[in-house]
Amino acid sequence: MIEQPIPVIRPTLPPLEEFIPYLEKIWDNKWLTNNGCFHQQLEKELADYLGVNYISLFSNGTLALISALKALNIQGEVITTPFSFVATSHALLWNKATPVFVDIEPDYMNMDPDKIEAAITPRVTAIMPVHVYGNPCQMDRIQEIADRYNLKVIYDAAHAFGVKKDGVSILDYGDLSVLSFHATKVYNTIEGGAIVSHSSEMKERIDILKNFGFRGEMRVDEPGINAKLNEVQAAYGLLQLKYVDDYIKRRKEIALLYRQLLKGIDGISVLSDMPEVQHAYPYFPILIDKEKYGIDRDELYGKLKDDNILSRRYFYPLISDFEPYRHLPSAAPESLPVAMEIAKKVLCLPMHVDLKNDEINRVCAVLTKYHRK
Ligand SMILES: *Cc1c(COP(=O)(O)O)cnc(C)c1O
Repeated sequence: MIEQPIPVIRPTLPPLEEFIPYLEKIWDNKWLTNNGCFHQQLEKELADYLGVNYISLFSNGTLALISALKALNIQGEVITTPFSFVATSHALLWNKATPVFVDIEPDYMNMDPDKIEAAITPRVTAIMPVHVYGNPCQMDRIQEIADRYNLKVIYDAAHAFGVKKDGVSILDYGDLSVLSFHATKVYNTIEGGAIVSHSSEMKERIDILKNFGFRGEMRVDEPGINAKLNEVQAAYGLLQLKYVDDYIKRRKEIALLYRQLLKGIDGISVLSDMPEVQHAYPYFPILIDKEKYGIDRDELYGKLKDDNILSRRYFYPLISDFEPYRHLPSAAPESLPVAMEIAKKVLCLPMHVDLKNDEINRVCAVLTKYHRK
């Protein structure tokens, strides 16, 4: 019997028949974009759902990141992490700012607060950490350093949809937090993103920036961009939001089943629980210790593929290893030992709402099969 391939990520679509009435309304109104009624409604409903005050929708997360930096006039150097999706650093280059990479901590693979101060130069204006895999950064420590050196903090919160710590949205931390609603994320608008801000003035500034810089009909003060979310996607987002709690519930079941089945395999470790955190389970990363497991991560990745199971080496290579960044002094592998090590060991297993328990069992059986006892 040929087993069906198991994809690593699969987008979750809301029921098609429920989407039709939204489309009919758009067709009736003929208002397709530029802050239409679904756009306004989605901003309101997302703010309520996420527990934040101000949110501005964007056409994708990368333009939201670029615009967030622009909204705060970030220049010079910015402290960030090499262990992320490449868009994090690209947003800095698009603002003509220079990334300064600092190493990560080994438990949750987020920026290591102990390494930040040594990287601060007179040119540093901001810190841009990432809540990797939705695990909260050490926000209080990062903010304390930022306050002491008068730096802005912009969180790449692309993995942090719906994540709360002690009941508070982690999007409430820092000057701005940026979400992605790309098809592969926990909550999607096909393509999309958002900036969470903390004042009506800042939200207004962000909304102006994403619409070419227009302040009213006649006035443009600075070069904005076009990063608006259209009505069709906003409507899709409203419908998706009705189901997102179900999606997160299923993701949690999947994560718990993985944890249970992987417990006994020597050489495979999972990230430990944060009891104070309410997760949304965007990914399921594991770490492969070659000495104990028998084969290394890359070999296992290939073997899983041969068995029709797709996994993802997120995040490998490190951002600091890509061509636009490798020349930077802070990109030297010697100064990023933890990130280098994790990037060699990490593998993200299939994680999506449609994943069946049978398939999770199959993934874990294959992981067991290759373990040399
Ligand atoms: C997905 C992602 C982005 C980019 O978001 P898009 O909506 O795809 O542009 C940025 N940073 C991180 C960490 C991401 O995972």
